[in-house]
Amino acid sequence: MKNIIITGASRGIGRAIAIRLAREGYRVAINYYRNDEAAKDVLRLIEQEGGSGELYQADVSRYEEVEAMVKKFYSAYGKIYGLVANAGIYIRRNIREMSIEDWKRTMDVNLNGAFYLVKASLPYLEHHASIVFISSQLAFRGSPSSVAYSASKAGLLGLMRSLAIQLAPDIRVNAIAPGTIDTDMISNYTEEERRKREREIPLGRIGSPEDIANVVSFLLSEDSSYITGATIDVNGGFYIH
Ligand code: NAP
Repeated sequence: MKNIIITGASRGIGRAIAIRLAREGYRVAINYYRNDEAAKDVLRLIEQEGGSGELYQADVSRYEEVEAMVKKFYSAYGKIYGLVANAGIYIRRNIREMSIEDWKRTMDVNLNGAFYLVKASLPYLEHHASIVFISSQLAFRGSPSSVAYSASKAGLLGLMRSLAIQLAPDIRVNAIAPGTIDTDMISNYTEEERRKREREIPLGRIGSPEDIANVVSFLLSEDSSYITGATIDVNGGFYIH
C-alpha cells in the first residue's frame, strides 16, 4: 500500500483529497491543526469505506512537529510515496491593516510549511515519489485582500520549480492553482458575492473540493509520469493565462 501525507486534511480541499486517495487504495496520513473532531470524522468515513488512514496533529509552521509526524508515519508504515502540501490560511487584511505578525504567520504556514514537509520527508521517500503543492490562482493574479497570501502562493511555485529540477529524475514535484473553491475559506462570501463570482467563471460554477482532489489523484498516478515542475490551473476558466 502506498503511503501519502496530506497536510490540512481535516476540512475543505485536504479532506476531499484524503477521502479520494483512500478510496484509491492509498494509506493516508491525515494532518490537521486544531479541529480534532473534523479530522476524526474524515478518518471515520475512510475506515467505514474500508480505507486506511492515521491522524497526525501538527502545526506545519513548526519544523519539529512536521518532522515528528513524518518519522511517526514512516516508523509505523515504511517509505512514503507522496506528499500533498495543502494546509493554508488566508488572513484577509489589506496592506494598510496587515500586521507584521499576519505576514509572518501566512508565510510560516503556507510557504515554510510546504518546505518543512518536503525537507523532513526526503530521507523517507520512496525512490519514485510524487509531491503536490496546493498554490492558488492568486499567485498569478494578486489578491485584493492579502499581499501575504498571494506572495506565499507565488513562493510555493518557485519552491516547486526548484525542487522539480533538484529532485529529478526520481521524484516529481508539481502544483495545482485552484480558483474559487467551496470551502470554509470562502465562507465570508455573501450570497450575492457567490452569484457574482459564478457569473464571472466561464464554466459557470464555484469549484468543489473534489475538483482539486481529481487533479491531485492524477498528479500522484503513473498517468502523469512525464509531468514535473508544472502548475495546473483548476479554476473553471476564471483566470486564463
Ligand atoms: P480550509 O477549508 O480553511 O481548510 C484549511 C485546512 O488547513 C484545515 O484542515 C486546517 O486544519 C489546515 N491548517 C490550517 N493551518 C494549519 C497549520 N498551521 N498546520 C496544519 N494544518 C493547518 O481551506 P481550503 O479552502 O480547504 O484550502 C486548502 C488549500 O487550498 C489552502 O492552501 C488554500 O490556500 C488553497 N486554496 C483554496 C482556495 C479556495 O477557494 N478555497 C483557492 C485557492 C487555493 P484545522 O481544521 O485543524 O484548522
